[in-house]
Amino acid sequence: MALMGQMMSAPLLISSIIRHAARYYGSTEIVSRRTEGDLHRYTYRDCELRARKVAQALTALGVQQGERVGTLAWNGYRHLEIYYGVSGMGAVCHTVNPRLFPEQIAYIVNHAEDGYVFFDQTFLPLVEGVAPHCPNVKGWVLMSDRAHMPAESKVKLLCYEDLIDAQDGNYEWPEFDENLASSLCYTSGTTGNPKGALYSHRSTVLHSYASALPDALGCSARDVILPVVPMFHVNAWGLPYSVPLVGAKLVFPGPKLDGASLYELFEQEKVTFSAGVPTVWLGLLQYVQGNNLKFSTFRRTVIGGSAAPPAMIRALEALDVEVIHAWGMTEMSPLGTSCKLLAKHEELSDADRHKILEKQGRVIYGVDMKIVDGDGNEMPWDGKAFGDLMVRGPWIIDRYFRNDANPLVDGWFPTGDVATIDEDGYMQITDRSKDVIKSGGEWISSIDIENVAAAHPAVHMAACISVYHPKWDERPLLVVVKKPNAEVSKEELLAFFEGKVAKWWIPDDVAFVSEIPLTATGKMQKLKLRDQFKDYRLPAA
Ligand code: ADP
Repeated sequence: MALMGQMMSAPLLISSIIRHAARYYGSTEIVSRRTEGDLHRYTYRDCELRARKVAQALTALGVQQGERVGTLAWNGYRHLEIYYGVSGMGAVCHTVNPRLFPEQIAYIVNHAEDGYVFFDQTFLPLVEGVAPHCPNVKGWVLMSDRAHMPAESKVKLLCYEDLIDAQDGNYEWPEFDENLASSLCYTSGTTGNPKGALYSHRSTVLHSYASALPDALGCSARDVILPVVPMFHVNAWGLPYSVPLVGAKLVFPGPKLDGASLYELFEQEKVTFSAGVPTVWLGLLQYVQGNNLKFSTFRRTVIGGSAAPPAMIRALEALDVEVIHAWGMTEMSPLGTSCKLLAKHEELSDADRHKILEKQGRVIYGVDMKIVDGDGNEMPWDGKAFGDLMVRGPWIIDRYFRNDANPLVDGWFPTGDVATIDEDGYMQITDRSKDVIKSGGEWISSIDIENVAAAHPAVHMAACISVYHPKWDERPLLVVVKKPNAEVSKEELLAFFEGKVAKWWIPDDVAFVSEIPLTATGKMQKLKLRDQFKDYRLPAA
């Protein structure tokens, strides 16, 4: 007969994280740069009280458990209160990316059936444009106080601070099934309509535990953590949950993400740890290097969302900042792998250690991965064979929100990434399957080409895309934005590749541009670039 364990059954609920932070790290600070322009400062204790008031206010508005509540907001304390207030009462916190086109935002709000949408002042014009296309939204809540409410608006607005002030905070977080939905994120949808990943309390709490582990993000109560990655980009990679869970001080940059503003906040608040996509670090690095500055406390950062170029890893290291390269996706909550060395790597030379640190890393416990060939057969872990990367685990989607198609293959989620895995389990992304360059039937990794280009001193940003070639089908074209005042010729740049990649991988041509289009999450928009260069004629073609 089965013998059941005799332990308390406590559901894994998101409210337990903020309650824990308030009770055990009550005086730890949360500092936010506000859209109002000033710095706001309070504690986890204050935050939890106001989150309870958010839950009360939503209840008073008639929001039901399971109902979706949207946000269009920067990283800030009010957004955090909404994260906990909404999920904590059993409703679903739906973060919408305000950098999307208004049509996409309306599509997402309607598809999710958001009952209310909370938004930062910055996005008032956006809301005024989108609101007429979202007839089912019962109220738009401006996240500010009465003094900052516009005298008139095309949309009927509610005032966040008024909603909070009307409540007494006398509220107990309800207990319910940990498998209930807690939050919702849509993928940026570079092709087709965005699709929703609907997280549960259980998946979120498990992901928070795992992501705080030493070989993942390695956060502790002694850290000061500034998530640059937006709370509308896969829940800022889970930091709004994992940081209160470990009780670290939290610093929110609000709308100011330029190098100078970030640097000022890093120094002033003694930030030790951060996280963001490579394009953000480009801006910060340019500012710090250009002004001959140093970081006094900043020591570790997670880079993910796109491949961290080795030159960026080196540049941050030169400033005493350790880079933890990580990989994941919206469908994975998002963390899948992180790159830290094993004990046996301590002896390696600097160059060999870096070869490892440039990879996307090993899975964190909870995630299982494999690479497969076109027929679904598992491929060897030799660091050379590359195949379609598949994952499974308790914080990976089973299906998309309000979408009947089954995305899984034999219980595994196909990531759309092409990767190698080495003998020690380090995974390296070769490409997104749609970005791979297929030259005469052989594959060229656009990421490898970009990484080499990024190491050239005159290159600010580089994207490698395929263009049509009559003989080889596709050949690589390198699209480059030069650093301000830097000069480099096409020939010099191509010569830079010699000895660094196979000869036939060297791009056929270089196109210098003033700007590379970025997606709403700050990644290079290769689809758009391919479109822009679709009639490009290579010199040898
Ligand atoms: P979207 O697909 O909506 O842009 P995601 O943030 O979910 O948004 O993107 C996930 C994808 O981003 C992954 O499938 C992978 O292609 C890419 N990605 C994420 N992290 C890395 C990384 N460290 N290196 C290379 N690619 C990455």
